[in-house]
Amino acid sequence: MHCPTCGEYGDLVLLKVKRTGAQVIACTECDSLWKTVDVTTLGEPLLDVADYLREHHLPPKWSELELLRRV
Ligand SMILES: [Zn+2]
Repeated sequence: MHCPTCGEYGDLVLLKVKRTGAQVIACTECDSLWKTVDVTTLGEPLLDVADYLREHHLPPKWSELELLRRV
């Protein structure tokens, strides 16, 4: 699915945060992040990937995330 924030450029992916096990959806292009695993309920992104990781006291890097699948 294309990212609603950056349009045609980004793909949304389901990710697992390696250290917490939490699953989130994020855009590989603009780093928008949604705290949901259901693409039908996406609203405006509240955070980006780095903000989300910092909020959980993790290094703000994509390497903290495991790519599960495209959504
Ligand atoms: Zn995007």
